[in-house]
Amino acid sequence: MPELPEVETIVRDLQHVVGTTIRSAELTHVDILRGVTRPKLLEGLKGRRIDTLTRRAKHAVFTLGDRRLVVQPGMTGSLLVHTKPLTPEEAKYAVLRATLSDGRLLVYRDVRRIGTLLWLDAKGWARYDSALGPEPLEPEWTVEHFAGRLAKSSAAVKKILMDQKHVVGIGNIYANEALFAAKVDPSKPGKKVGIEAAARIREHSIRILEAAIRSQGTTFRDYRTGTGERGNFQLELFVYGREGEPCRVCGTRLSGTHDIDARATVFCHRCQT
Ligand SMILES: [Zn+2]
Repeated sequence: MPELPEVETIVRDLQHVVGTTIRSAELTHVDILRGVTRPKLLEGLKGRRIDTLTRRAKHAVFTLGDRRLVVQPGMTGSLLVHTKPLTPEEAKYAVLRATLSDGRLLVYRDVRRIGTLLWLDAKGWARYDSALGPEPLEPEWTVEHFAGRLAKSSAAVKKILMDQKHVVGIGNIYANEALFAAKVDPSKPGKKVGIEAAARIREHSIRILEAAIRSQGTTFRDYRTGTGERGNFQLELFVYGREGEPCRVCGTRLSGTHDIDARATVFCHRCQT
């Protein structure tokens, strides 16, 4: 699923829709909706101005007056703006289509429809926002905060780093990369990590997320930027997707496991002790 750098890229690429008004909207499938019905969403979108488009955690947030449309792109989800009518191929997976006041079409495309759409009022937004942890690229994510969360948990450090209650936006790709850079064993229990290693993990997480934004995210299969391009950060990965290949630091064969969180964890048993 797209993580912070990918969603940040999409949101930056689509700033040109801010200030337009949604003339009408269509939805081909309701299975991506959460807590809202099709008529309620479509009637709600109609005639509303897009005031801002921002990112929270791994989600794109359109603010439309007192409502928010929260798009959580799944593994195969993307947001795109079309200036011409959709080709049959483009139309096939265009789940949500909003016609803008300037005639362009804002599309949420999702091949497997793993993503979700939320339509929130002020109260719903407050509840959604408060359930999420701090943003890693904001000053609120301090060493003290992170080390405090680690110290209270016997879960694997990788799981804690990916838990959106503790810090948002970091998923499997960037957790693997940050722990490698920080030289920390991903299976280490949080309470055994200690303040120095916590500080290293935080520092490298921030550095890697920022570098990935500069590279417009990581594309393995489906992720595309807001202009339909591939990201480039896959070229800079040290461990993710490299199980069995030599470590770029020490040359040892990288190990892989699914035992930590049922996701692919790749690490160097020599560098990450
Ligand atoms: Zn190594």
